[in-house]
Amino acid sequence: MSWKPQTIRAGEWAITALSDGHMRLDGGSMWGVVPATMWRKLTPPDEDNTIRLALRPFLATRGDAKVVIEVGVGDRWEPKWRAIYKIERDQTLERTLRAVGVAPEEITHVVASHCHWDHFGAAVIERDGKLAPQFAKAVHFAPAIEIEMAKHPGHARSGSYRAEDVTPLERAGLLTGYADTIEILPGLRAHVLGGHSDGVAVITLNEGGNGDTAIFWSDVVPTTHHIQPAYVMAYDLDVVKSFDQRSEWLRRAADGAWIGMFYHDEDHAFGRIKRAGKRYAFEAIG
Ligand SMILES: [Zn+2]
Repeated sequence: MSWKPQTIRAGEWAITALSDGHMRLDGGSMWGVVPATMWRKLTPPDEDNTIRLALRPFLATRGDAKVVIEVGVGDRWEPKWRAIYKIERDQTLERTLRAVGVAPEEITHVVASHCHWDHFGAAVIERDGKLAPQFAKAVHFAPAIEIEMAKHPGHARSGSYRAEDVTPLERAGLLTGYADTIEILPGLRAHVLGGHSDGVAVITLNEGGNGDTAIFWSDVVPTTHHIQPAYVMAYDLDVVKSFDQRSEWLRRAADGAWIGMFYHDEDHAFGRIKRAGKRYAFEAIG
């Protein structure tokens, strides 16, 4: 599906879905213990068994605050890796931001859920042969443990992080680590959950306020098909923790009829997760 700007409201926040292109990952890895006969119907794979995933940052605005939630995969890719992950630059964060009338230098905050390269790679760009922040005037927030993992991933995590996605931001004094739950701006909170990665967070807007609450699911619920608690990705570091956190937050979202914001879903940026008997069902918005 090609990108078109779609905006929802959560209290005083306006939230617009952007795009930083697409990529493909192995379907089995995205679906963990879910049988292929099931997931192949939900997310049809290519002949190489990969499934197409969106890379979908969001713009959240309220008063003077212009916040990018998750930045995307970015352009700093050798041809080899671009080919392996089939990274498509059919859209970019910068282009879609400009399309909705916002220049990169107007961004006041960047809030990241975790530092995996497919979510945080676009925070740093190459400018005049040097690595520099894409949003030079923005304070960047990422879970402290994720910043640490990006710099020192160790063998098991080395495929998921790149130190140079975070170090130029640190050098520029633009990177702030957070832990537990933090209210970054009025009504914009990040909750560190862990499970998928050491410190993956969900980001909520207008939680408990008048009007709708929105939740950015990140890789806690990567697509609108991953809405049953047991659908834990094989990529997830801590399966039990992921299951527990997913169970708890899916319950909260369903109970509150929150609007979900989906990063990797090809077709839907926004939608609600509702109860359907013992399971959950997805209801699209727009
Ligand atoms: Zn991730």
